[in-house]
Amino acid sequence: MKLAGTGAKAILPAFLIFLSVFFIVRYFYTDNGDPQSALAKQASISESSLLALSGQTMGTQYRILLHLSALADEPAKTALASSISERLDYLDKSLFSTYVPDSQITQLNQAELEKRVNVSDELVAVLVKAQEVYTKSSGAFDMTIKPLVDLWGFGSAGFMNAVPEQEAIDLAKAQMGMSVLEVSRDAENAYVIKHRNVFLDLSAIAKGYAVDQIGLLLDSQGQHNYLVEIGGEAISLGRRPDGDEWRIGIERPQAGQNILFQQVQGGAEKLAVATSGSYQNFFTDDDQQYSHIINPLTGKPVSHDLVSVTVVAPSAMAADAWATALLVHGLQEGMKLANDLQLAAFFIVNSSSGFKSLHSDAFNPYL
Ligand code: ADP
Ligand code: MG
Repeated sequence: MKLAGTGAKAILPAFLIFLSVFFIVRYFYTDNGDPQSALAKQASISESSLLALSGQTMGTQYRILLHLSALADEPAKTALASSISERLDYLDKSLFSTYVPDSQITQLNQAELEKRVNVSDELVAVLVKAQEVYTKSSGAFDMTIKPLVDLWGFGSAGFMNAVPEQEAIDLAKAQMGMSVLEVSRDAENAYVIKHRNVFLDLSAIAKGYAVDQIGLLLDSQGQHNYLVEIGGEAISLGRRPDGDEWRIGIERPQAGQNILFQQVQGGAEKLAVATSGSYQNFFTDDDQQYSHIINPLTGKPVSHDLVSVTVVAPSAMAADAWATALLVHGLQEGMKLANDLQLAAFFIVNSSSGFKSLHSDAFNPYL
């Protein structure tokens, strides 16, 4: 499918959230990353029944819109905002962050070989999904990629801005291996045992999991109309205050441009959407761009014309992981895999005549 007119700057429709970049309600307030402050500014639009929350988590921003029919008073809003930021803080700092010295993922990365490490059910849920996507994607999605991510300067080891030697790439590749990771549970605990030294990076799946968790938190608080986004992974449920459905937009794959490329048509049911792009986080060396999405087979950043993949899936966690896996595969293989597995995927290719999009069969209902 080719989209006409995608070069023109789109007028941003209200209540549309862009995967990967901007939130459309930004005219409601200037986002300074502080949910309480966003709440305070919300007070100035008290006519509206829309509550907008935002803040920092997992090295990126979260943005949440709620249709507040059941939750009117300020203390209730503040309590909801706090429970969201506390939950995100827990997921980031206690479970997933490789920057935090005592997070569960850091404990796993530092664990001795053959030693059992007890982990939370939540971490295991993510590890099990990561194993599933690893297998089904023939290793394109591989959470043991940390040594390569660090080597290329996209990880907790800091920015490198240089192409590593082939020897170093080979060494980092040799440190990978999903089969040496035992993820299991007994009657009391979930646990992980490393049979060889591997190092985990959950950056391509943890944000999706966190989005799902915030959705569950909102469900449990009786919210039926919301939009949640963390760094390009999103879910929506129900309707916005004007009665229309929420809209999630895929942006044109150009860093910092915030131009709408395609709307994802959802409906009022829960919809999980994630985008992985090679155009956001990269460095340039000798006129060549090196992106943060790394092909585990070559040990190098993806370098093909496929620059953005959006996946709609039953959970944001699955959508997140699959978007990365399909991006690694490239257009031809990624499209084949998506159709074989009936994944709803939308691909944007950077061709000599501009950006072109194609999609898998299962994506048809979302166009
Ligand atoms: P973003 O973090 O921008 O949403 P992704 O969800 O695609 O993008 O995650 C990219 C991150 O995942 C990288 O920064 C890196 O830490 C990690 N990563 C890179 N390549 C892979 C891969 N092949 N499999 C799993 N994780 C990867
Ligand atoms: Mg991802």
